[in-house]
Amino acid sequence: MNETRRDIPRAGASKLPRILVVEDEADLALLLSYNLEAEGYSAETVERGDEAELRLVESPPDLVILDWMLPGVSGLEICRRLRAREATRTLPVIMLTARGEESERVRGLSVGADDYVVKPFSVPELMARVRALLRRSRPERIADRLTAGDIDLDRETRRVRRGARDLHLGPTEFRLLEYLLERRGRVFSRAQLLDGVWGQSVEIDERTVDVHIGRLRKALSRGRERDPIRTVRGAGYSFDETYGKI
Ligand code: CA
Repeated sequence: MNETRRDIPRAGASKLPRILVVEDEADLALLLSYNLEAEGYSAETVERGDEAELRLVESPPDLVILDWMLPGVSGLEICRRLRAREATRTLPVIMLTARGEESERVRGLSVGADDYVVKPFSVPELMARVRALLRRSRPERIADRLTAGDIDLDRETRRVRRGARDLHLGPTEFRLLEYLLERRGRVFSRAQLLDGVWGQSVEIDERTVDVHIGRLRKALSRGRERDPIRTVRGAGYSFDETYGKI
């Protein structure tokens, strides 16, 4: 089904899933591309619907985030045309709609959008939907399992093992470990972890992060086992990138 794809290889980005953001609000487009790149995708943004059409024909990405109201051609029309062309019939599309436009949401789904998100939305939630949709459409692009040394996290079964031992993590500890493992070596402040793991809209004391890091450590390491979570004084936490390597 991909024989009609014509990828334009870009240096260093050829293996990353490519996401096209079609959004005419410059601040939102910037916020999305920043967050998509932080999640490990290659992001490109265009402002106009007609410009998006050209990009989509030239070089279909792996997923499109498509605003409804656009100059040039509307998001609805773009989605309809994507579905009509063989090369993009199954291309994952997430539509962005303004709050309260219930009838538009229904129309968006009726022209074949895979998902929709109502503005204003939480960025971590949109990132989770992007990940879920990419996993459904191209499972080989997003690993089901994250491993570091003897630690193995399986997203499909939600099981975490260290060596032969099953670890019993609460849902927050699971997501925290998943988040840190996906970005191993990077140091996150408590505020960044709250945004990335709990979501921007929640108001939780930053000390909550310490409590869950403590629980995660307790579940991960027994006795003299090496602790893979690094505390970086004055900065935050990271999953030790040398774990399992040295
Ligand atoms: Ca718009």
